[in-house]
Amino acid sequence: MKRLDGKTALITGSARGIGLAFANAFVREGARVAIADIDIIRARAAATEIGAAAHAVELDVTDQASIDAGVAETIAQFGQIDILINNAAIFTAAPIVEIDRADFDRVMSINVAGTLFTLQAVAKHMIERGRGGKIINMASQAGRRGEPLVGVYCASKAAVISLTQSAGLNLIEHGINVNAIAPGVVDGEHWDGVDAFFAKHENKPLGQKKREVGEAVPFGRMGTADDLTGMAIFLATDEANYIVAQTYNVDGGNWMS
Ligand code: NAD
Repeated sequence: MKRLDGKTALITGSARGIGLAFANAFVREGARVAIADIDIIRARAAATEIGAAAHAVELDVTDQASIDAGVAETIAQFGQIDILINNAAIFTAAPIVEIDRADFDRVMSINVAGTLFTLQAVAKHMIERGRGGKIINMASQAGRRGEPLVGVYCASKAAVISLTQSAGLNLIEHGINVNAIAPGVVDGEHWDGVDAFFAKHENKPLGQKKREVGEAVPFGRMGTADDLTGMAIFLATDEANYIVAQTYNVDGGNWMS
């Protein structure tokens, strides 16, 4: 018996990076997964690689019709959604006096409104089905404290932590556990973009910021997507039934340093 046998998970932003690692780990634990992403080409490639337990779904978290269609397609494919991971997000950085309103709106629309309205659509299905569920939001260490050049992203992830608390307290009466994971720095394509920004802004060679950040983690290196999968699996199982509205750091000690 695997830990997620018989469960179906919808994972947003899972065509690559951390979301894809979650999809692979959940399938290894017996789940079926909807690889839901705005990048349907990569989502299809990922689902093909994983096999019959995965189904690619085109889903843009900024578009309500797309969220509703993606949720409906997942239910049509697998019959139910037991687990949602709100993982899709984008990063942005700029000095406070240079923050652009359109960029602010775009980040908030994906990271905050996208998290809320995907959660809402899946929670409605879970309530109607009457079997509870598990919702995991991807926060960040950036949501725990501000950083000088990362104001918008930090604010968006602080909002995710706050929404996790409100939704967690609101939905537990339906047996729906809402919790969040706050990673520190996780290697991958996302971080390549972050490194490029800091290389330009701090006049460093490409790769140097990433090296410095990794060395500063008390664990001794940046995280990998696979470092996060254990917490996600745990929060998706019945072992986590009594855990409500929490955000867990999985960051190699970064937050404490
Ligand atoms: P990533 O950039 O590698 O992947 C993000 C995925 O989201 C991509 O597949 C992209 O196509 C998808 N996406 C973007 N906009 C979308 C939209 N509108 N609708 C649906 N999908 C969309 O990111 P990652 O590094 O794997 O991060 C995953 C999560 O973890 C994010 O919430 C991120 O904020 C969080 N996080 C990452 C780090 C890190 O260092 N990588 C640290 C802390 C938190």
